[in-house]
Amino acid sequence: MSAEIVVDLAAIRHNVKALAAAIGTPVMTVVKADGYGHGMVEVARAAREAGAPWLGVATLAEAVELRDAGDTGRLLCWLSVPSDDFAPVLERDVDVSAYDIAMLDRIAEAAARTGTVPRIHLKVDTGLSRGGSMPVDWRELFEHTLAGQQAGLWTFVGIFSHFASSEEPDNPANESQERVFREALALLDEVGLVPEVRHIANSAAALMRPSARFDLVRCGIASYGLDPTPDLGPDRHHRVDLWPAMTVAGELAMVKHVPAGAAVSYGGHWVAQCDTILGLVPAGYGDGIPRAAADRAQVQVAGVRRPLRGSVCMDQFVVELGPTEEGLHAGEPVVLMGPGHDGEPTAQDWAEATGTIHYEIVTRLGGRLVRRYRDSHAESQAEAPTEPSGQSGQSGESTGGI
Ligand SMILES: *Cc1c(COP(=O)(O)O)cnc(C)c1O
Repeated sequence: MSAEIVVDLAAIRHNVKALAAAIGTPVMTVVKADGYGHGMVEVARAAREAGAPWLGVATLAEAVELRDAGDTGRLLCWLSVPSDDFAPVLERDVDVSAYDIAMLDRIAEAAARTGTVPRIHLKVDTGLSRGGSMPVDWRELFEHTLAGQQAGLWTFVGIFSHFASSEEPDNPANESQERVFREALALLDEVGLVPEVRHIANSAAALMRPSARFDLVRCGIASYGLDPTPDLGPDRHHRVDLWPAMTVAGELAMVKHVPAGAAVSYGGHWVAQCDTILGLVPAGYGDGIPRAAADRAQVQVAGVRRPLRGSVCMDQFVVELGPTEEGLHAGEPVVLMGPGHDGEPTAQDWAEATGTIHYEIVTRLGGRLVRRYRDSHAESQAEAPTEPSGQSGQSGESTGGI
């Protein structure tokens, strides 16, 4: 078995339902970037099964792929370039985003070719300074949108923005961005445009900033069971029980003894201080394992966390099992990361070890890692009859070890 990414679709369904229940506002499940490394189509299907009324992606190509895989609910895409053709998404009934008048006109041109009436969400920049219309341009953009709507070119359905620092709920930038968003809403009203959905909150804001929920929130990271505010103390924490959906596991390709003084992996930066035992893990930076994890991250072998030693290579890396681990052999299961319920490292542990965020850790995984899906709920249902009485119905344990 080569190293694999195991995604628990029951965890995705649980998270989508738990977020909807906790937030009380309709939730768009964000499945861009191949579902943050979990598999876009499979995650989307699980989210819909759990009742997700909206899905969100970045690119037009992602939206097309979802539709061609059979997705039929409301779906928004929000990132395009001038050479993109909107026709394929309009033909597939996807809601589209416009940042400026030129983009609106490109959408209208594709609509004319396809005989469709696009549903438009305007993106306004409230302080992130990334995509979206700057306040100085809003009146002209809104008036153009109204004129196009009156001419039957499109239907205006939404206005949205995006926070810069929502994972820090006390950062004054959140207050400021929400205030600027409300200014945009007031101007919309003045111009005479009525939005169906106003949305600005991502996962962290949806959970930590009720005033920013408006009509719809866009939850990416929390849908995968990863904590959107990992740096907040438990006292400040949201109370939603999120289940991490991803586990990365494999088996040791080799186990061997090396003498004190052995220099491990490229460059020989780590040198064994005593006779010790090493394990070879068959995944590397070609599969999205960060090179920055060298000597910093850990994996779990035989229930114990073991440190990475030496450079992470393209296809493999080395862990130290320790001088006394005579019982471990090639083929021994290794868990690189998982929910953490059984002591294995989490995506957040890898992020802290490598100076990044868990978003990047899970999203970059891929390469030759095989993605496999499981359904811990169905598994626990199937197991229930064979369990001793009194043991069944432990659904709370269903995300346990793999
Ligand atoms: C990626 C993205 C989201 C989801 O953010 P999370 O922090 O993962 O919840 C929401 N909105 C936009 C515009 C995005 O690009």
